[in-house]
Amino acid sequence: MSASSLGTGDTGYVSGSGWHHMLDITLSDLPYLQPIIEESFLDWKEECAGLLSSIAGEWAVLRPDGTWFTGDPQLQDYFSAGDDPAVSDLIGSGSACAVRSEHVLGGRTVCAVPLLSRTHGDFFAALVSVTKGQDTERARFMTEAAGIILRSSFYRRFQQIFVTDLEVVYEQAAKEARRRSLLFQYVKRMHTRIDVDTVLNEVIESVLCVYPNADVQLFMSQDHESNHPLVKPLLLHHWQEEIYVRTFMEGTLTIVHNEAGKDAESEIGVPVGGKQGVYGVLHLKIPREHLPEIDLELLEMMADAGGTAFENAKLYEQSNVMIHELRMINELTQSLSKSLNLTDIYQFANQELRKILRADYCCILSMNEELGALEVTTCNAPWLAKEVFPKEYGVGGYVFQTKEPLILADYSEERPAESKLMESTGSNSLIATTLIVNGITRGVILMTHRKKHYFSYDDYRLLQTLSSHLGLAVGNASLHAEVRRMANRDMLTELYARHYLDEAIQQCQSRDFCGSLIVVDIDHFKRVNDTYGHQIGDKILKQVSSIVKSSIRQTDIAARWGGEELAVYLPGLNIEAALQVGERIRQRVEQETDPLVTVSCGVSEWNWTHERISVESLFYRADMALYEAKNSGRNRIVTEQAESSSE
Ligand code: GH3
Ligand code: MG
Ligand code: MG
Repeated sequence: MSASSLGTGDTGYVSGSGWHHMLDITLSDLPYLQPIIEESFLDWKEECAGLLSSIAGEWAVLRPDGTWFTGDPQLQDYFSAGDDPAVSDLIGSGSACAVRSEHVLGGRTVCAVPLLSRTHGDFFAALVSVTKGQDTERARFMTEAAGIILRSSFYRRFQQIFVTDLEVVYEQAAKEARRRSLLFQYVKRMHTRIDVDTVLNEVIESVLCVYPNADVQLFMSQDHESNHPLVKPLLLHHWQEEIYVRTFMEGTLTIVHNEAGKDAESEIGVPVGGKQGVYGVLHLKIPREHLPEIDLELLEMMADAGGTAFENAKLYEQSNVMIHELRMINELTQSLSKSLNLTDIYQFANQELRKILRADYCCILSMNEELGALEVTTCNAPWLAKEVFPKEYGVGGYVFQTKEPLILADYSEERPAESKLMESTGSNSLIATTLIVNGITRGVILMTHRKKHYFSYDDYRLLQTLSSHLGLAVGNASLHAEVRRMANRDMLTELYARHYLDEAIQQCQSRDFCGSLIVVDIDHFKRVNDTYGHQIGDKILKQVSSIVKSSIRQTDIAARWGGEELAVYLPGLNIEAALQVGERIRQRVEQETDPLVTVSCGVSEWNWTHERISVESLFYRADMALYEAKNSGRNRIVTEQAESSSE
C-alpha cells in the first residue's frame, strides 16, 4: 500500500513538526484499509499479549457495515453473516458516538467498540471481542481499552506508510536532480565542442561515467578516424542481426535479452542522430539484473544531445574543409594567372599541387600531337622530367584513355596499369585526373605518395577541381601565345612582321658583337603583277619567302619588310658572310621561282666598334646598297659603301 492510494482528506505534506498527526483517513479510504488493518491487528496482538491473556477470548475487526476485516480465524464464519446483535447495535447507532453493546451468547460475551478516525471521528472499523463468562462490565472495559490500543497501532502503521512513501519520493527527487545536473553538464560540454572526435569521446566517457558496469561502444556510420578505442565503424553489410544495425536501420531504441541463466545479459541500442538523420548507435551490454538500473530516457537524451553536437561539429568541419579548399583554389588561380608562360605555369602548378595535397610527387603529362605520345611536362622526379610515353602506357595512359579520375590506395594491391612513376619513386598511393583545356583532354595530372591509403576522398575531389583551374590557366596561356605568334607574323609569307624584326635586331645589338642585314627586293614586281595578275604575284612572293627561309640558319630572322621587300638579319655574321648568304638567295630565286623572277639585295653590317649602332642606321645603309643594286642593273647584291658603315 502506498500513501497515494489513500485519498486522505488532508492532501500533501505539511512541513514542520507534527505534520503526520494532521494526516487522517476519511470514509472514502475504506476500500484501501484492509492491509493496514491486518498489519495493525497483528501489531496490536503482540503489544496486548499480556492484556489479552487476562481475558481469554477471541477478537475480530469488522467494517462499519459489520463485514469481516480481520481477526482470529475462528470468528470469521460467525461474523461473515454480519448479523450479530452487538454489532448491529453498534452500526445502528449511527457513527461517531462510543456506543457499546454487550450480549450474552451461550456463556460468552460479545462486545463491540467503534474505532473512530482521529480528526473527524469517522467510524471506520469495529473491534469485537468474544469472551468466556458473562462479566459484561469487565468485557466492555477490556474491549474499550483494547480498542484504544488498536487505534493507535492503526495510526502508527498509517503514518509509517507516509514516511516510507516520502522516502521513496525524496530518493526519486534526488535521483532526478542528479540526472538533471548530469544532463545539464553533459549538454553544456557538448555545446562547447566543435570537433567531431571530441564530441564522440565525450558521449562515450559520459555514458561510462553514468554506467560504469556497462560494456559501452559507439558505432558510427560516417567515415572518420576516431582515436577512441570504443568508437567503431558501423558496417551495415555485416551482421544484419546485430542489435546496433537494427537500431540504426529503425532509428529507435532497441533492447534484446540474450540467453537466460547465470550469464543472462541485456543489450541496449540507442540511435545517435541529429536533425538530418541517424549517424550511429550507442550500444550497451549489461548483466540482466542491472537492466532496471538503466535510465533509458536519460540514455536517449544523452544520445540525442550527442547526435546533435556531432552533426554540428560535422557541419563545422565540412565548412572548414570547404573554406580551406576555396582558399587553395583561389591562391592557385591567382598564382597561375600571374604568368602567361606555359612552362612557368606547369612548374608552378607542380609545386603548388604538391603543397596543397601534401603529395611526394607530381607529374603532369601532356599530349604531344606531333609524336602522338604523352610527354612529361613537369615532374619533381628529375629522372622522369624529359620522358615521353606511348599514349596507352601506364597509369597516366590509362587515365588519358578512360578520361576518368583515379584513386589508388595501395599500388601493390591494385594497379590498372604499371607505372614508371609509382615504381621509380616507391609510391603506393595515387590520385590522378585528366587535364582538360578548352573542353579537350590535353593531358593527365598524377599525384603520388609513398604511404599507402594516403589520399582521402576529399583530396581526390580537390585535385579534380584544381585540375580544371589549371586547365583554364593553360588554355589562357596557349591562347595568349597563339595571339602573340600571330601578331609577330606576316600572314601571307609566314615570315616575321617588321616590328618583330626591329625589336629582335635591337636586342641583338645590345648583346652581340656584330651582325648583318640583307634587304631583298623583287625586281620589276609591278610588271609581274601586271602580267600575271595579283594572285600569281602573291604566289611569287611566297616562293621567294620560302627560299629566303630555307637559305638561312634557325637563329637568323627573316621578315617581310613591306610590299615586295624582305629583310634578313644574321646575328653574329659580318658582311662577307652575309654576302654569301645573300648571293645564295639571289641564285636560288633566279632558278627556282615560277614564273621566274629575280631579286636585288642590299647588305649592311654593324659591329661593336661602330660609333653609332642603331636599327635605323642599319636599315638605311642596306637600303642605300639596294638602291645601288637596282641602279646598276638589278639581279645582283651590293654591300654598303665602306665609308657609309661608320655613319
Ligand atoms: P623594282 O625592280 O624597281 O623594284 O620595280 P618594282 O616594280 O618591283 O617596284 P615598285 O616599287 O615600283 O613596285 C612594287 C610593286 O609590288 C607594287 C605592288 O603592286 C607590288 N606589290 C607590293 N606588295 C604586294 C603584294 O603583297 N602582292 C602583290 N601581288 N604585289 C605586291
Ligand atoms: Mg620595292
Ligand atoms: Mg621591286
